[in-house]
Amino acid sequence: MNKRITAITAGLLAVTALAQSPKDKGYATIDRATAEAHIGFLASDELEGREAGYKSGRIAGNYVLAQLKSLGIQPWNGSSYEQPFEAYRIERQKKGSYQVHPDSIAKLKEGVHQKLNLRNIIGMIPGKKSDEYVIIGAHYDHIGMDPLLDGDRIYNGADDNASGVAAVLQIARAFMASGIQPERNVLFALWDGEEKGLLGSEHFMLNWDDPTKIKGYLNFDMIGRNNNEANPEHVVYFYTAAYPEFEKWLRGDIKERGLALKPDYRAWDRPIGGGDNGSFAKRDVPVIWYHTDGHKDYHMPGDHADKINYPKTVDITRAAYLNLWNLANNFGE
Ligand SMILES: [Zn+2]
Repeated sequence: MNKRITAITAGLLAVTALAQSPKDKGYATIDRATAEAHIGFLASDELEGREAGYKSGRIAGNYVLAQLKSLGIQPWNGSSYEQPFEAYRIERQKKGSYQVHPDSIAKLKEGVHQKLNLRNIIGMIPGKKSDEYVIIGAHYDHIGMDPLLDGDRIYNGADDNASGVAAVLQIARAFMASGIQPERNVLFALWDGEEKGLLGSEHFMLNWDDPTKIKGYLNFDMIGRNNNEANPEHVVYFYTAAYPEFEKWLRGDIKERGLALKPDYRAWDRPIGGGDNGSFAKRDVPVIWYHTDGHKDYHMPGDHADKINYPKTVDITRAAYLNLWNLANNFGE
């Protein structure tokens, strides 16, 4: 073989290797059509706003469970994708919040109370290190319907948080498509009862034996809208300040992959505000949280699927896939 052909062959091999790296294979599966399909279904009027404890919320849970199963993701505890739990509060005239802590539940049961049957949906890709975990999560519940509203009565929750659920499901598919076993166990968690007080993620952590086994938690809550139409690439990237590499990863990936994102980097000592990230941050699990900020349809009936900025939500999903890849494979070794 002459020198020139050897060089061409080497070049082709390098290009082929780049195109077919496991990480890139997974990356290539993340697309707009899938985001539209998941968000379109979950935020349709037929889903009636996915309120936790109601039939509409159960249907949303069945949908995400079916998706994880069809991707070949394993049940998180070996036999089931479901983590059922109960939440209690005092009868409605006292206006108390729902509780999942066993002590609070025992107290509430002494009086007249309400009870919700809820469930988290969780899948797992087992890693090589059986005792180390990374978790990516989003809540799938929303705030339901109000039959007394004059006009549109359904709080569809496309941004809040069908957008986040779509990202988790796309990243689950991407990890499977990569074809390799990650170093750490990766849990894909769709939380119930977030809108009623972070109930699902709090229940999960109350029953988790050792938070130090969780090497990182990546949260999505509302990743699909524009806070300011003049800055459509805006996304807030909250992360635990003790891990400055999280910001470096995102900066590098945006550059390398040409992602159309302009992150507002916000390092917090403990990112406990806003959503399910709080259940992890307060137990000192390192957190990354993507959020595209408030807008006029937040917790309103107008949070519709056709108002989603799909190119942005897809690029956030891609960026988060790369973050999770690092967390699962080569962070903190
Ligand atoms: Zn939310």
